[in-house]
Amino acid sequence: MGNLDQLLTVQDLDLRSDQLAHRRKNLPERDTLAELQREQGELAKTIEAVTAERETFVREQKRYEDEAATVIAKAESTNATVYGGTITSPRELQAMQDEIAALQRRQTQLEDQVLDLMERIEPLTTQLGELDASTQALEAKVAEVTGQIATADAEIDAEAAEVVAQRDVAVADVPEALLSEYETLRERFGGIGAAKLNGNTCAGCFLSLSAIEVDRIKKLDADAVVHCEECGRMLIR
Ligand SMILES: [Zn+2]
Repeated sequence: MGNLDQLLTVQDLDLRSDQLAHRRKNLPERDTLAELQREQGELAKTIEAVTAERETFVREQKRYEDEAATVIAKAESTNATVYGGTITSPRELQAMQDEIAALQRRQTQLEDQVLDLMERIEPLTTQLGELDASTQALEAKVAEVTGQIATADAEIDAEAAEVVAQRDVAVADVPEALLSEYETLRERFGGIGAAKLNGNTCAGCFLSLSAIEVDRIKKLDADAVVHCEECGRMLIR
């Protein structure tokens, strides 16, 4: 095999490396993972908002319950005083009875408010339970997709290492200057620096060479480096 044919082998292996790198970068599972992570972010925000709303109601409920406890204690102590026999003034006793009645009305109000809050808290608690289940389901999906990515990456990496090993063998016989020019061209043309000449067509740009040029190339030594007159890539014939 001549140097130029060997260069075409290098070119094929370089293209395979490019394809593997492209496949690795563009695994559909990476998009799936990004979408799942976006969903996790949204879900966390919702949980934060619902938790904050619920906590506000819970604090309010606690405040009303504490106030109700104070009101009940006050009513009980006033009631004990009324029935304790130490107060004899009917006017004073009446004032105390009125105070007890007022405290009981306040207690009813507070208990209604507590019930109202409990009714608001209940659906939020249910919602948080559902959100927690969604979080766990999402975490399971993230773990699954992350595993799929790791498996795919490992497979691609193993294949890429194999291609690199083959390339190392292939370049060994290619002269330094030729390889260097090929690499410059490959960079310039975004992947293909050396192309096969199929009949009179360049496999790099798919344009046909002029009959004169084809004729000229035919007369050259097999090892002579030829470039496509259309695109400038090295032509392997
Ligand atoms: Zn060309």
